[in-house]
Amino acid sequence: METTTRPVPSIAPAPSLNLADRCDSCGAQAFLRATMPSGTELLFCGHHGNAHRASLLGAGASLHDETDRLTIARESGFGG
Ligand SMILES: [Zn+2]
Repeated sequence: METTTRPVPSIAPAPSLNLADRCDSCGAQAFLRATMPSGTELLFCGHHGNAHRASLLGAGASLHDETDRLTIARESGFGG
């Protein structure tokens, strides 16, 4: 039996976006950071992140997506 190195489990990355990070489109709290091939970083809220996701990926951006946190917050009964 061979011991294989398993890939790193896909756990959620440590949140690196916080209240100070704001959507470039509307100023709401950002949950998605897009790093363009040029190195430019763009921040988007959940709404605009979803709206621009396809075109960002099409432009070759790498996305740091924390929009899961929005879903978690809702499922935890946050707000209501
Ligand atoms: Zn927005």
